[in-house]
Amino acid sequence: MAALILSLPVMAQKVCAHRGFWQCEDAGNAQNSIASLRQAQDGGFWGSEFDVHLTADSVVVVNHDPTLNGIPIHTSTYRELLKAHLPNGEFIPTLNEYLHQGAKSDCMLVLEIKPQDTVEATLELARRCVWQLRAHGLLDPSRVMFISFSYDACKWIAANIPGFQNQYLEGVEEPEEVFADGINGIDYHYIAFHKHPDWVARAHALGMTVNVWTVDDPEEMRYLKDLGVDVITTNCPDLAAGL
Ligand code: MG
Repeated sequence: MAALILSLPVMAQKVCAHRGFWQCEDAGNAQNSIASLRQAQDGGFWGSEFDVHLTADSVVVVNHDPTLNGIPIHTSTYRELLKAHLPNGEFIPTLNEYLHQGAKSDCMLVLEIKPQDTVEATLELARRCVWQLRAHGLLDPSRVMFISFSYDACKWIAANIPGFQNQYLEGVEEPEEVFADGINGIDYHYIAFHKHPDWVARAHALGMTVNVWTVDDPEEMRYLKDLGVDVITTNCPDLAAGL
């Protein structure tokens, strides 16, 4: 009698490339570059994270720090930022350029709204992101989600475009507190889930999504996967995808 072989489905972990898949030759180690987004798309990862800031002349640009090679972004015009280059030779991407590339695949765009110098500027940044996403046909919960250390930005997203994944980043608030303010997800540093492993199930019980940053160690990835987080954000997406 032939042996009955049961084939059980393997649930793949959702992997988000932190600042794109930049740790590869083709991206030239340039975080938040167009090339790093393209590499994340080509790698077939679930999502790709990136950070945005607003220039003095109200251009939304993609960069992690509030400075670019020592040039302050918030008090400089976009033209002044063109004096600098990313490590791979690209200019700092505008959000418009970034979304043009983002529209080319189904890779989830995980947009981090960086706190600006004032709450008003942060909300203006959020507003401009929404306008540009709409212009690119990407204002769709299946194509973009939002994360921020700005609680005001998270609350603005919840109030103005409900229905999108919207995760708070500062891992100090209990899921119930975040949920009470209308924010439907948390994206915390992995140490927060060592201190409070029950936060994952408590968030899920409320229908919230759970993301974790920035996890580059395979043992840590396995711990968080077993804990049941929805997404692992990592600088090593190829490693995480193989777990
Ligand atoms: Mg970020």
